[in-house]
Amino acid sequence: MARAKIGIIGATGSIGVQTISVIAENADKFEVVFLSAHQNASALKALGERVNAKHLILTGDGFGELERVIDDNELDIALVGASGTSIIPIAYQLACKGIRLAIANKECIVSAGRQIMAAARTHSSVIMPVDSEHSALFQCMAGNNRCDIASFILTASGGAFRDTPADKLKDVTVKDATTNPNWKMGRKITIDSATMMNKGLELIEAHMLFDIEPKKLQVVIHPQSIVHSMVSYLDGSTLAQMGNPDMRVPISYALGYPDRLNSGVSPLDFSKAMELSFCPPDLKKYKCLDIAIRVLNGGKSAEMIAMNAINELAVDAFVKEKLSFVGIGDMIERCLADLSYAEPNSVEDVLEIDESVRKRVLNG
Ligand code: NDP
Ligand code: MG
Repeated sequence: MARAKIGIIGATGSIGVQTISVIAENADKFEVVFLSAHQNASALKALGERVNAKHLILTGDGFGELERVIDDNELDIALVGASGTSIIPIAYQLACKGIRLAIANKECIVSAGRQIMAAARTHSSVIMPVDSEHSALFQCMAGNNRCDIASFILTASGGAFRDTPADKLKDVTVKDATTNPNWKMGRKITIDSATMMNKGLELIEAHMLFDIEPKKLQVVIHPQSIVHSMVSYLDGSTLAQMGNPDMRVPISYALGYPDRLNSGVSPLDFSKAMELSFCPPDLKKYKCLDIAIRVLNGGKSAEMIAMNAINELAVDAFVKEKLSFVGIGDMIERCLADLSYAEPNSVEDVLEIDESVRKRVLNG
């Protein structure tokens, strides 16, 4: 069988490196057309050699070369593992290419999900979720009627401060916030997990990817990160997707679907005792999640774009020790209340809102 032609954007990141590890495990199934990184040339070169990539692209000076390689080469699959919203035009270009598009970048879906999903429908691209919760939802929906679904339940680890009382959060440091108990990820997403904005972004991501009404979406804290999300049906059944917390599982599902690839991850070992527990999140403690739920319920794309942009700025300020941890939620709430934008009709509108929000917030 012909090998699938694949391109990976953000190859040097946490998601990118794990994707390359899945490809290396399944070298007979993939032909790597390109890998991109932003600045890390030496890591990119080493990864390129590992999977024999045809093109290696650095995007630090702009997306021109990446756009050209995407235009000029036949692709079956592209994986967007780059961070941040600046990659939106590339995700959109790929969605217009009539290929399978595996997207890990949730900020991109939160901000431009409507436009990317519409382009995928028009050009017969298939969007595959890489985020573990959305991969779980996808898997729990497979083979069932959409109209029989009662609710979608996203699980959350609770992040670095799951067991920290709310009144102690004012004293936590950047180092404390960049340690996730269950998942090893990039820095920004680890801090988002600690504030639970990550779950807020994921609620909006689920809404965009699967066209789910906000009232059918729910979040539950599941400290073990074994159940990656669940779908409840009208007959009282709840289907869960389980596995060790390792992103190579959802990555390999997105690349291999409908086949299951060898991801290099062992299944759960039920010969050992295991406990699974669940509890609802405290929305007073996790203010960022509360804000995201309100934004989701409001249904305005412009507000989702703004919330995501302000969160990125707030996390950056926290990392630079210019803002306290609890200041992140306060800043998002305050800035959101001061802003108002018309709804975007195109990717250009999305980028304009994103940029304008950042400018207004940074200029006070
Ligand atoms: P990392 O910070 O580890 O990696 C980011 C990657 O993107 C690197 O290859 C980096 O290149 C590249 N990059 C950085 N800035 C830009 C830019 N402006 N334009 C293009 N490329 C850029 O991030 P993660 O792998 O943790 O996360 C990537 C995305 O996946 C995020 O959107 C995150 O929310 C999402 N995600 C991550 C999960 C995880 O487990 N890590 C789980 C679910 C979703 P360079 O190395 O050269 O800087
Ligand atoms: Mg996730």
